[in-house]
Amino acid sequence: MTDRILDFLRTRRPDGPCLVVDLDVVRDNYLGFTRAMPDTRVFYAVKANPAPEILALLEELGSNFDCASVVEIDQVLATGASPQRISFGNTIKKERDIARAYSLGVDLFAVDSIAEVDKVARAAPGARVFCRILCDGEGAEWPLSRKFGCEPSMALDVLSHARLAGLTPYGISFHVGSQQRDTEAWDRALAVSAEIFRTLAERGIELKMVNLGGGFAAKYLKDIPSAETYGRDIMGAVRRHFGNRIPETIIEPGRGMVGGAGVIKAEVVLISTKSAAEETRWVYLDIGKFGGLAETMEEAIRYPIRTPRDGDQATPCILAGPTCDSADVLYEKAPYPLPISLEIGDEILIEGTGAYTTTYSSAGFNGFPPLQSYVI
Ligand SMILES: *Cc1c(COP(=O)(O)O)cnc(C)c1O
Repeated sequence: MTDRILDFLRTRRPDGPCLVVDLDVVRDNYLGFTRAMPDTRVFYAVKANPAPEILALLEELGSNFDCASVVEIDQVLATGASPQRISFGNTIKKERDIARAYSLGVDLFAVDSIAEVDKVARAAPGARVFCRILCDGEGAEWPLSRKFGCEPSMALDVLSHARLAGLTPYGISFHVGSQQRDTEAWDRALAVSAEIFRTLAERGIELKMVNLGGGFAAKYLKDIPSAETYGRDIMGAVRRHFGNRIPETIIEPGRGMVGGAGVIKAEVVLISTKSAAEETRWVYLDIGKFGGLAETMEEAIRYPIRTPRDGDQATPCILAGPTCDSADVLYEKAPYPLPISLEIGDEILIEGTGAYTTTYSSAGFNGFPPLQSYVI
């Protein structure tokens, strides 16, 4: 929460739920990462929030960009950034999208299978590829499971195959899971990465880069490590596992770059109970899972919520969205304490919502418009 956001909401009084992002916080976060990890290049994970103002600011600050699609690549190029500052980091790409990215000048691609290497070799001859390895995501609040990456033994085959297919085997990547508050998670992945570097070196393949991924936390309710702590622990692990052969490193923060820069303003639509005997209140907002709060799935991300009546006595509430879908409940297994004095029509503020909200909001489910966003 910043004064600029509060001022904006007070003076502009936007109607309906909306996200307000403070660019000053994004700038501070970017500079925080570069200060904490001066020898590491930042590739902002565009999917976290592709607002043109955010991309333009990061372009100006010198950031690079991790893109997952041709549309995201176009959004980054529209800022004037050169294609050398872009990594096509999705391991699941159509061959024609690889060709399109390559024709735009993108030369760095993620792979995690031989079939994907073959696509890149045909559509982007000679390009640099890095292989993503599996990470268990243990300790992360939004783990990325087994969808991306391959076992280390397969990474050896994937990168060896890349060499045979005329590509440049460039490095290893991993993602320790999003909202990863345990810096030790990088240590485990770096141990595996260093082993792959050594084995491939014996086969004559000299990898150059370790992509340390995202996972840097945004502040919700629990404490999080500072950028300095992430930097110290992660770079310590790099030195421990790579000794005096330190590779080029990059990070791909999404949530940690923009999550804390945004606040959603929402409104209480209804407060009710299910029977006269029942004490637990249901509080329905004008925003829910389909309006941008998709990361409340399984109640994974628990946002700080501010009400105009904070300080009054609070009791646990079930918090739900406005749509006619029974899945549109935000917090029920772990109910959310809200003031007893809360009233229908009250405006509330949901903090830490700068990442993974606008991009997740549906276009017109039940007639609700996509989440409005203001970048100030
Ligand atoms: C989503 C994503 C990120 C960003 O992750 P955060 O946890 O939000 O920092 C980074 N890299 C890749 C490849 C991603 O898919």
